Amino acid sequence: MADQLPVYSKREHSSGDELDTEERKGLLSDDYNEKPEPDTHPNAWSTRKIVVTAMSLVGLLITGAVARTLLIPPPPPHPNLLFHGGALRSNGTHDFRRTVLMVSIDGLRADYLDRGLTPHLLEISKRGLRAKAMRPIFPTLTFPNHWALMTGLHAESHGIVANNFWDPVSQMEFHYNRADNVYRPQWWLGEPMWETAMKAGLLTANLMWPGPLRTSTGASPTYMVPWVNHTPLDEKLDQLVRWIDLPLEERPQLLLAYEDSLDQAGHKYGPLSAKVNSTLEYVDTFARNLHAQLEARNLTDIVDVVFVSDHGMVDTRTFTNVYIDKILGQDGMQAMEHVDGWPAMGIRFRKGSNESLYLSRLYEAAEQHPDQLDVFTHETMPRRWHFSNSERIAPIYIVPKVDHVLTTVEEGSKNNSPGNHGFDNIETSMQAMFVAHGPFSAVAKTLHQSKRGRSLNWANKGWHSTSDDTYVMNTFPNVEVYGLVMKLLGIENFSAKTNGTAGFWDVYL
Ligand SMILES: [Zn+2]
Repeated sequence: MADQLPVYSKREHSSGDELDTEERKGLLSDDYNEKPEPDTHPNAWSTRKIVVTAMSLVGLLITGAVARTLLIPPPPPHPNLLFHGGALRSNGTHDFRRTVLMVSIDGLRADYLDRGLTPHLLEISKRGLRAKAMRPIFPTLTFPNHWALMTGLHAESHGIVANNFWDPVSQMEFHYNRADNVYRPQWWLGEPMWETAMKAGLLTANLMWPGPLRTSTGASPTYMVPWVNHTPLDEKLDQLVRWIDLPLEERPQLLLAYEDSLDQAGHKYGPLSAKVNSTLEYVDTFARNLHAQLEARNLTDIVDVVFVSDHGMVDTRTFTNVYIDKILGQDGMQAMEHVDGWPAMGIRFRKGSNESLYLSRLYEAAEQHPDQLDVFTHETMPRRWHFSNSERIAPIYIVPKVDHVLTTVEEGSKNNSPGNHGFDNIETSMQAMFVAHGPFSAVAKTLHQSKRGRSLNWANKGWHSTSDDTYVMNTFPNVEVYGLVMKLLGIENFSAKTNGTAGFWDVYL
């Protein structure tokens, strides 16, 4: 078999034209080199020649076709494919197991990376790969999306249906900025990736990633640093490096980190502001320093670094106000018992109130102003949002169009921030980012290059390499990220059920 390898690989690397030329040359050389036989049966020679020629041609065609489709030996497995969770790889001085470090930069809109302010994130994406965008779940809010990234579930399944919502079952309100309430394990449904990793016997570390300190099953990350506002990124980097420098048996294989300064700048000053740009540079410096720390430890072939965000950000300064009190009337306003899901409005009217009247007023407004707002019930909610099958989702939802703000006459624009999110998850401005570098991206590139050589269709399937050699995946939903981490850590057998697609990452890994 070894002797045959060069032949096949030669054919593999030949273009179709070269192969045809070789085949034609072979046929012609047969013609010229064959010694004429005694001319006893002149017609017999030409008949035989035709048969031989035809058979050779068929033979060569079959050989060529078979060689191209079946017999081309697969490329040798990329060394990183053999590096799974349990295996050890040395960085030169210490043994490491496969490690995934995922960082969320809150509110990093996908196209922020094209502003020329993030050279290091772009450099990482050139060495590794980048998605055109990553699609958040609806609602495009911080807590629902960070929990979707952790669990691979849509909001109706993972229970965090907004940053603030009323739960009629427990008769409690979830509110993202109330520490006494937000950590209550019963809020957080589904299995976060750190719990799965723990079940598989791996150690995990969580640096401020939004979520509970422990789930309702009692699981918690091995190392946990709860969120503290305004923690400098240098301190976060120090913590991550301290975890990576732990001895093998104490070292986490899954590390999660969260940074919120960019989202805060986006809300306060708007996505086009100088403050957002300077914060982008600040975040990019962190990416550079993190990479430098990994490189200094010779860990770039061991640690997969995945940068994600939860949603985008839109400039709301020119948005038009939609006055809900004008639509609902004062009686309708007073009948509202709970209002969830800002900047949308999930409404629960008081028991005994004339709910059908208020709903008809809302429908009428949506019909008259389809450019301003939509009104949905569980039955009419767009199916692509997967946002209806939960008691926690209010029975009536008003969702503003991306250039409108829901408010009241009295409130006016008082509470409008220059930047916001929470709108339809297919809006361009709501798209999140995905950039990865490490053994994962090296395998993905190798597979891409070899498969593209074997299949003409491959080049357009899912991703491509741009002129500056950045590998760009198509936009994909963030509920797939759970499956990626399972695959990278080699613990797919322990995977919980998710809304991700089975085999989604098989073409990349
Ligand atoms: Zn956010």
